[in-house]
Amino acid sequence: MSANPNHPKRPYPLERTRNIGIAAHIDAGKTTLTERVLFYTGMIHRIGEVHDGATVTDHMEQERERGITITSAAVTCEWVQHPVDGVFKLFQNEKQRINIIDTPGHVDFTAEVERSLRVLDGAIVVFCGVAGVQPQTETVWRQAEKYEVPRIVFVNKMDRTGADFENVFQDVKEKFGVKAVRILIPIGAEENLIGQIDVVNLKSVIYKDDDTMGSTFEVSDLEGDLLAEAESAREELLEALCDCDEELGEKFLMEEEITTSDIKAALRRQTIANQIVPVAGGSAFKNKGVQFLVDAVVDYLPSPLDIPAAKGQSADDEDTVVLTETSDNAKFCSLAFKLWADKFVGKLVFFRVYSGTISKGDMVYNPRTRKKERIGRLIKMHADKHEDIETCYAGDIAAIVGLKNVQTGDTLCQEKFDIMLEPPLFPEPVIAMA
Ligand code: GDP
Repeated sequence: MSANPNHPKRPYPLERTRNIGIAAHIDAGKTTLTERVLFYTGMIHRIGEVHDGATVTDHMEQERERGITITSAAVTCEWVQHPVDGVFKLFQNEKQRINIIDTPGHVDFTAEVERSLRVLDGAIVVFCGVAGVQPQTETVWRQAEKYEVPRIVFVNKMDRTGADFENVFQDVKEKFGVKAVRILIPIGAEENLIGQIDVVNLKSVIYKDDDTMGSTFEVSDLEGDLLAEAESAREELLEALCDCDEELGEKFLMEEEITTSDIKAALRRQTIANQIVPVAGGSAFKNKGVQFLVDAVVDYLPSPLDIPAAKGQSADDEDTVVLTETSDNAKFCSLAFKLWADKFVGKLVFFRVYSGTISKGDMVYNPRTRKKERIGRLIKMHADKHEDIETCYAGDIAAIVGLKNVQTGDTLCQEKFDIMLEPPLFPEPVIAMA
């Protein structure tokens, strides 16, 4: 059976969806960064508005008063990338949908981290620019590696005394044995953190104040050590990419011209293939680098179409592998990854759709209980509101209200689709309602 023909068509293309997590050692700045990302993605859709420092600050305060839902299991937001004058941007001017899935930061919750890593397609791993790689982030890193989650590193707190971007960059390379490349280099550090160099697009920005982006200018306009640093980072990037990306390596060997768009495409391919880890530096606290970081999420982290489709097994025969297909027209299959008691809406089941579509009022089948339940309500969580939706599509993340007998890790699918997605490593009890 294919998707229900009565379901409305999806409102945006799947390749513009990013399901990401933000992972960090406690205190590295995950909450602050998430707040910033939500703020800019929830309130501001055009770069023009970002230039207005007053507007930004006002909104930020309102936002704080209302209390952002950053503790929610998954928040959906939208983003339009910054135009980089005259330089090719992969998805420029198109609205991107970014689902941020909460990855718990406390060391006791590594089971929860593992579980949330299963449903996200990419991650930002945050390090403190002073403390560098800390033991618990190493654990998170290894977990992300196990699930082959493509990562971007954000070296945060570059405004703090003792912050050292190069140190953390080297630390990441040495401790994790990965091919890391600098994509966004902070200009200055500590109280002299003033801007950023975009190594890929060869653009720089000097921030006007703590909330306001300045306008971008060419890297070639930089002088002295900064220019040398930008040039050496660009060379390193090119070398690392030519080393692992056949297409780019070939161009290099043939002495063909290599454009910025070639580099971006190769960096995207190799980040998704887990061959390369892009590293960015800045400060979430003062919003130096956060907006370019979100651009990088869109540029280099995968959409659900870029990763292998989820695999499961037959409910009756664990040796039979059952595949899903990342398409709205395929049989419906999803994973319940988090149960949540929301003080306004009640008991929510956050789920990730791997294939097919589901609408409000439809029945879902749970192969564990061998029972069907009706979807009472479907909602999306945004930075400051719940949105009732009619339909949820392949690759997307939302929450169901009104299911009674669901545990974390349950497969929810259409009846007669004999599939159980891999059970979570650590079974979770049924939620106790607050
Ligand atoms: P989490 O535990 O990883 O969620 O970290 P938080 O976001 O709660 O941040 C921990 C502390 O570091 C808070 O006091 C933040 O205000 C502060 N902080 C976060 N980001 C930055 C930053 O970029 N610069 C500075 N100086 N402080 C920061």
